[in-house]
Amino acid sequence: MSEQATVNPQTMDNIVSLCKRRGFVFGSSDIYGGLASAWDYGPLGVELKNRIQRFWWREMTQLHDDIVGLDAAIMMHPRVWEASGHVESFADLMVEDTVTNERFRWDHLPQENRAKKVSPAGNPLSEPKEFNLMFKTHLGPVQESSSVVYLRPETAQGIYVNYKNVVQTSRVRIPFGIAQVGKAFRNEIVTKNFIFRTCEFEQMEMQFFVHPSEDEKWFEYWKQQRIESYRRMGINMDRIRFQQHGPDELAHYAKDAFDIQFLFPFGWQELEGIHNRTDFDLRRHSEYSGKDLSYLEDTTGERYLPYIIETSAGLTRSVLMVLSDAWEEETIAEGDVRTVLRFHPELAPITVGVFPLVKKDGLAELARNIERELRQDFATFYDQGGAIGRRYRRQDEIGTPFCVTIDYETKENNTVTLRLRDSMEQVRIPIAELSARIRQSIKEYQRVGA
Ligand code: ATP
Repeated sequence: MSEQATVNPQTMDNIVSLCKRRGFVFGSSDIYGGLASAWDYGPLGVELKNRIQRFWWREMTQLHDDIVGLDAAIMMHPRVWEASGHVESFADLMVEDTVTNERFRWDHLPQENRAKKVSPAGNPLSEPKEFNLMFKTHLGPVQESSSVVYLRPETAQGIYVNYKNVVQTSRVRIPFGIAQVGKAFRNEIVTKNFIFRTCEFEQMEMQFFVHPSEDEKWFEYWKQQRIESYRRMGINMDRIRFQQHGPDELAHYAKDAFDIQFLFPFGWQELEGIHNRTDFDLRRHSEYSGKDLSYLEDTTGERYLPYIIETSAGLTRSVLMVLSDAWEEETIAEGDVRTVLRFHPELAPITVGVFPLVKKDGLAELARNIERELRQDFATFYDQGGAIGRRYRRQDEIGTPFCVTIDYETKENNTVTLRLRDSMEQVRIPIAELSARIRQSIKEYQRVGA
């Protein structure tokens, strides 16, 4: 796969239009003309997002016995954001095209434009101005400075301020992690590329607490774990890479940072950040709250502030990653092109489509019964309308990995056709073996295609 073949604005347009047409993602409040860069997840989109979240949650909590979960409130005490450094320095530099008034993030402009201080349209740029990304609001009826609260710009701080609660109430000992999925808000200067960069989004974050002498070892461990997780998700690894932050790019809290980038249709972009945050956060929260957040090692009696290794992935951005990776227009024969979403079967919104060949002669009832059985184990969809080939193609377009067709032979010998999305292969199998066969195929799933 060449980079040029993948980076294609047309592909992005196709994905956006498929998402709207088939109910993955809608523009927010679109009957009122929409709200810039805010998006709603439709019936298929919410299933896809939930499955990505569940996949991550399982990897983090179920498959690691040293990680526990948390769900902290979005609104927090305003001192949290002073301690974290966000009030003071969570800002981007903004510039404006002095002719068109179009706004840009300074660090997102090409070097050439920054050097000449001109916009991509060639007009002079305004002086860079700092712009704090946090949404500020007021708690309660009185709008005064003492009632200011912020919508959290990251979920991480909810974990830090609960770290002591978790240590005291669960059996975790260092090294251990706390995982959380939730909404975050940033008043981005420029939102673009569909759901890639929005002001309201979801993050999947895990903070791993370690002894300060072991930070580099765990940093490496989590880098490898996270990259491997994308392989297990069935993502094309040619489209995944690491990018280390240079010394001038490091956030105020970080000793070392790597991004995991994905090759989106608009180029390589960050998907997840892995940061060595040192003891910065716990030290600051100790100072600002006056509470002792040190950790006591029972075996040695040593007391210290743990270092934190963070893995921070965008959930809504992962939805776009999975869609971009899965989307393909495949030429079957001359003049016959199918759109197929090659999702990992565990991520697909619908796992099994069930169709009677025709509605009459009892086939619809038979198909309904089979679908009712299958829905105990899988997300199913029943469809009895239109030509069977068209029903398959409609499921290909939304990424359904398996379809089952019930025909006249089913009545004679209790067998059905199992049709596979990726190879379009059709196999005849007994109804009694259907569930086990699908389960086995999910387990043995190997990605195919571009
Ligand atoms: P950038 O510099 O691109 O604004 P960042 O490096 O500040 O982003 P992090 O703070 O590391 O981003 O956020 C962790 C993850 O959260 C990102 O890798 C991304 O997947 C997701 N994320 C951050 N901002 C947004 C956003 N505005 N919309 C959607 N997802 C986001």
